[in-house]
Amino acid sequence: MPWLIVLRGTPLSGKVSVIALDGPVASGKSVVGRELARRLAFRYLDTGVMYRAITWLALRCGTSLADEESLGNLANRHPIRLSGTESNQVWVGEHQLGPELRDARVERQVSLVSRMPQVRRVLVQQQRTLAKEGNIVMVGRDIGTVVLPNADVKVYLSASPEARAHRRLKDLVDQGQDVDFQQVLGETIQRDDMDSNRADSPLRPAEDALTLDTGELTIDQVVEQILAQVHRC
Ligand code: C5P
Repeated sequence: MPWLIVLRGTPLSGKVSVIALDGPVASGKSVVGRELARRLAFRYLDTGVMYRAITWLALRCGTSLADEESLGNLANRHPIRLSGTESNQVWVGEHQLGPELRDARVERQVSLVSRMPQVRRVLVQQQRTLAKEGNIVMVGRDIGTVVLPNADVKVYLSASPEARAHRRLKDLVDQGQDVDFQQVLGETIQRDDMDSNRADSPLRPAEDALTLDTGELTIDQVVEQILAQVHRC
């Protein structure tokens, strides 16, 4: 009989230990990933913060965002440390990063940095090391396709650009930012475009991913469908 462990009353097959969750800007990855990790008592890792941290560092150091070698060296010299069960404490050297990771400049430039293969090579290596212990929900753009192609469960979240821009607008207004819908929609489409059309690790669903539309389902329904897949494995 296969062994079973019981977490918060939910029987979990012993097989599923690594969950890859990908999707475009504001597709609901973070909220779904966090809830999934909480329900399974897994670690949660948002890889977007790693690309944001290197972008923040490059802007701070005045590194040209067109200079791939310098960006790769920067990433190499400054390993990112993540702590807390939700990896919500992000350290670069002695700096702990918080709201600056969501800064408008970082937001606009991050896709320029993340398209650089030399940067990706360094961060993907760090992500694989972090996944080695298992029991993790890893969230990003290329987790199921490149970082963890052998993940036990792969999920791709999608929604229309308009639905995602509405979600993003609400977050930004809640943070006190003065933005309008057309601006947010334009930035959402632009970042999707760069992330989907880059040569290295473009955003796309893995062939074996479960694809869910978060514009049509509630967060709870999305989480339930992923958990159903986890328990089937
Ligand atoms: O998910 P988030 O919006 O924080 O990601 C910020 C950016 O980091 C994305 O737009 C993308 O350019 C990059 N990214 C990536 N690969 C990942 C995670 C994020 O290229 N695995």
